[in-house]
Amino acid sequence: MFHRSKTRTIRIGNLTIGGGKPVAVQSMTNTPTRDVRATVRQIRQLEDAGCEIVRVGVPDMESARALGKIKNKISIPLVADIHFDHRLALEAISQGVDKLRINPGNIGSRDRVEQVVVAAKKAKVPIRIGVNAGSLAAVHTRSSAEDSVAFRAKKLVASALEHIAILESFSFFDIIVSLKASDVATTVAAYRLLSAKKNYPLHLGITEAGSLMRGTVKSSVGLGILLFDGLGDTIRVSLTADPVEEVKVAYQILQSLGLRSTGVEVISCPTCSRCEVDLIGIVNELEGQLVRINRKTTALSSRPVKIAVMGCAVNGPGEAKEADIGIAGAKKTGILFKKGVAAGTVPPDQWVSTLINFIKKK
Ligand code: SF4
Repeated sequence: MFHRSKTRTIRIGNLTIGGGKPVAVQSMTNTPTRDVRATVRQIRQLEDAGCEIVRVGVPDMESARALGKIKNKISIPLVADIHFDHRLALEAISQGVDKLRINPGNIGSRDRVEQVVVAAKKAKVPIRIGVNAGSLAAVHTRSSAEDSVAFRAKKLVASALEHIAILESFSFFDIIVSLKASDVATTVAAYRLLSAKKNYPLHLGITEAGSLMRGTVKSSVGLGILLFDGLGDTIRVSLTADPVEEVKVAYQILQSLGLRSTGVEVISCPTCSRCEVDLIGIVNELEGQLVRINRKTTALSSRPVKIAVMGCAVNGPGEAKEADIGIAGAKKTGILFKKGVAAGTVPPDQWVSTLINFIKKK
C-alpha cells in the first residue's frame, strides 16, 4: 500500500473525508432536480451501486426548493451544484444540503459571498471549489504559445487559489477542491501543483471524459496516476452514460489500486482457441449478478473474495488454485477449486450459480 497524502479532515453529512480516510465515490444525477421523484429514484440506484456522495445540479429556485424533499428520501450526503447565483446557495443550505459546490469568485460582491459563507458555517456545510479548464479558457489563456500543459495547469491552480483565498478571508476552511480538465496531462499536473501548496481534500475527476468506454479509459489513466501519487479524497468518473456506470468504474479503479474493496474480485482469462466453454457469456452473467452482492460489501479495505474463472486447464488450475474459489474449464465441464484444493467438477451451466452460492455463504 502506497503513502496517501494527509489532507484536512472534513465532514460531509454522515461521511468524513480527508485525513487518509478511504477515497469516497461520488456521482451526479442527470435528472431534472426539480423532479423529486425521478431524482430520488436515480439517487437510490446510485446508492445501490455503492455511491457515497451524490451531487445534483441546481439551475433555478424550483430545483433549490426541491432539495429538502430529496434529502429526506436518501441516505447519502447530498451536494448542491450551483453557479453564479448566491440566492440558490442560500436556499440550498436552508434546505439542508450537506455540501455546496460553488466558486465564490463567481457569485458577485463580497457581501454576497459573505452571506453564503456565514450560512454555510452556521449549518456546517463544506464548500467545494470546482475549477474546470473549459470555463477558464476565455479568462486565462492568451495565445497558443502559452497553451502548454504546464501553463494550463498553473492557470487552473491560480484560479483555485483565488477562490480559496476568498473563503479563507472569511476564516472558512471546510474546503474541498477539484481541478478538472478534459485532458489527463493537465489534470494530473494541476492536482500535483495544488497539493504541494494546500492540504485541502481533493475531489478528483477528468471532466467531460466521454462515453462509457472512452471515459472509463481516460478516467482510469488520469485518476490512476493521481491515486497512485497518494492524492485524492473523493473521486467522480464522468461518463456520458448512466451515472450508475460511473460508480461501478470508480470502484474498479479503486479496487485495482487496492484502495477499496468491492467485496469480490473476479479474475478471468481472455479466452483463446483452447477454451471450450462460453466463458465470455459466463463471466458477463457472473458480473451482472455480482453488482447486487457487491453493493452490500463496498465497505473499505477488507480483503475481497477472489474468484477465478478460467477457460481451460493450461493456466486455469494455477489461477483457480490461488483464488478462494475457482473453476477451470475442461471438455464440457469445469474443475472446481476451493482454497487451492480440487473439489469436483461443475457443468458450464452451473458455474455462475456455484460461484454465487459460495459468495453468498461468505
Ligand atoms: S486459460 Fe486457457 S483458455 Fe484461457 S487464455 Fe489461457 S490458455 Fe486460453
